[in-house]
Amino acid sequence: MTPSPNTAPTAGGLPTVLEVADVIDLTASMRRIRFAGAGVAAYLGAPRIPNIKLFLPGPEGLRDLPTPDQADHHRVTAAQRARVRTYTVRAYDAEAATLDIDFVRHGDEGLASAWAERARPGDKLGALGGGGRLPAPSPWLALVADDTGVPGALAILEQLPAGQRGIALLEVDGAEHEQPVAAPRGVEVRWLHRRGARPGTSDVLLEAALGLALPDPLKEDFIWVSAESRVVRAVRRHVRMLGVPRGNQLIIGYWRRGITETAYGTQSRNDRMPGESLVVLPENGKLRADSLGRLFAGDAESHLAESDD
Ligand SMILES: Cc1cc2nc3c(=O)[nH]c(=O)nc-3n(C[C@H](O)[C@H](O)[C@H](O)COP(=O)(O)OP(=O)(O)OC[C@H]3O[C@@H](n4cnc5c(N)ncnc54)[C@H](O)[C@@H]3O)c2cc1C
Repeated sequence: MTPSPNTAPTAGGLPTVLEVADVIDLTASMRRIRFAGAGVAAYLGAPRIPNIKLFLPGPEGLRDLPTPDQADHHRVTAAQRARVRTYTVRAYDAEAATLDIDFVRHGDEGLASAWAERARPGDKLGALGGGGRLPAPSPWLALVADDTGVPGALAILEQLPAGQRGIALLEVDGAEHEQPVAAPRGVEVRWLHRRGARPGTSDVLLEAALGLALPDPLKEDFIWVSAESRVVRAVRRHVRMLGVPRGNQLIIGYWRRGITETAYGTQSRNDRMPGESLVVLPENGKLRADSLGRLFAGDAESHLAESDD
């Protein structure tokens, strides 16, 4: 049976429907949408971070939201798949049942971007699933992200232990697109500006990433990269050349210039490679407000199954 978008989903069940509670512009290019209510509670009833699969409404709303069976097994139809997009859970509060997603505003060419542009309190979208991988706790960490990876990078930075060392390279268009960062003292945060170049065409992030001096590439360093496909592929080649073990990398293309997420996922699985990084969320039990922090503190028991996005 297809769940009605207007009824509260059963406990812990997916898919579920998220309702917009607030729309907050963090910068001119980054819009936070805060969701709240029963659908969020259902989503947060199980450990489903750091990423979420959103199902964007079509002309008739969410009437064709995939069934629970389709969502569980990713057996959505091609038409449904074309309306699925992956985003980062930027923040959540399981007790208050709120969840924040930060959308890059890249105009009307994208389904999700266009939706976010018009989102108002009361609007709804579907959540089909979530989960994913996080950098493993390691003494030195590099985060390399363009605008799309900034929400994930900032969430990670906020949760790192006080003694963490490393660097975050964050690409945005200019200083007015930077956001406040909470990071341990030993992690340098460097904003890089593409100064009017179209997203995905500047080399500023790539050059900075290729110029990084990794203190201990063969053992202790961890590299997390979330950016446009071209940057991701070039950085992976470089990191491999340096001998960084696969388990110390989490390098994922968040988008590719000129094609939709659906096409990118189908053609090359977002440039993913098997065996990178690990997932350390407990499989059962509710998400706690400090779940991410517990991961980095090493207080986690089991690995999530292969739901790497
Ligand atoms: C694990 C993961 C987490 C992600 N988290 C976030 C997040 O928190 N916030 C976020 O904004 N994005 C995030 N992304 C990236 C996001 O899924 C893609 O940008 C996606 O393509 C956006 O969907 P859309 O419907 O707006 O555009 P699509 O319909 O997929 O694409 C339409 C066109 O827009 C272009 N395009 C897509 N993204 C951008 C962009 N950012 N700038 C310029 N052109 C673009 C495409 O190349 C294409 O030509 C994440 C991706 C992954 C894999």
